[in-house]
Amino acid sequence: MAAAVDPLISEALLAAPQISDYPQFAQCEIPLQSGASRAFLGFIRPFSDDQTAREILRAVESNAQLQISSGRLSVETVPERMHPFEDYLIATAVPFTVLVAEFEGGEHPRSFLLSPKMTPRFSLSPHLRPDKYVWAGGRPYPALCVYSGNLFQYRNGEDKLQQLLDQTATYLAKYLIWLRTRQLFRRSADGSRQFVYKRKPHEPATEFDLMHARDAYWDGYWPGRLAPSGPAQHLATIKRTDECWCWSGKPYGDCCRPKEVAALKRAGSPVLASETWNRTTSTPSRTPLPEGANDNSPGWSSPRRTQPGEPADPHFRRPVGPA
Ligand SMILES: [Zn+2]
Repeated sequence: MAAAVDPLISEALLAAPQISDYPQFAQCEIPLQSGASRAFLGFIRPFSDDQTAREILRAVESNAQLQISSGRLSVETVPERMHPFEDYLIATAVPFTVLVAEFEGGEHPRSFLLSPKMTPRFSLSPHLRPDKYVWAGGRPYPALCVYSGNLFQYRNGEDKLQQLLDQTATYLAKYLIWLRTRQLFRRSADGSRQFVYKRKPHEPATEFDLMHARDAYWDGYWPGRLAPSGPAQHLATIKRTDECWCWSGKPYGDCCRPKEVAALKRAGSPVLASETWNRTTSTPSRTPLPEGANDNSPGWSSPRRTQPGEPADPHFRRPVGPA
């Protein structure tokens, strides 16, 4: 039974669960011109409460193992060390409406956030794939950059959509932390950035979401390790035979590598391949720390899976302010 792509979750839920451990997802209409073979609609609520959100922040930052059950995150052993941004994590029990698209052939499935909407001006989220989008309800939704193909490999014999949704849940948890810790910045003439508005811990973000000037932008704290980003980083860290970062399922050498080499040459940048560059020196730098950061989801009873100690991070583009 197909439901409309508009978030008619209750209707979608009438259909039988089709993704293992995600009974809150059901098959829906395939978005037009998406090229998908099947689509599913449902919701993910990564944090059951603020305390859990704080524990997950500690866990992600210390590279501890996460547990995932129906899209809910938990951690068995909570690192003792407090995180400086814990106090910013309020009102985190947010459900996200997510569309999942599946494709024929070797191309990997993708997930899309339908609501709450990502508003580029307020979100400026760098973890998106605007080149891979679907139309739903008359507007385009970019795919979520929930992993980099060379860092996360699908395990054979396990439900691929479930693995994608586990990755998506981790992504949404990090995105929510980013939203709650975001501050308003302005880029100055010399390229450095200055605080325009600094939220205090426990201060709700919503009232200030609307306060922005033309030359200001929001940026928050994206926890955990970052995947390599951009042609130079890709070339330096991904071997030709590794799976490409772009989710095509093809080796990097047969997929995006030639384009990226050409782009670097055009730009006059040195082309340093992974074979010649020590991988340990190529870890991307982090975003500087900002100064100062209706429970109807089934699943707690279902078996929890362990997320690897190094959660695969989304392909990362550096946040840049409006020019
Ligand atoms: Zn590729």
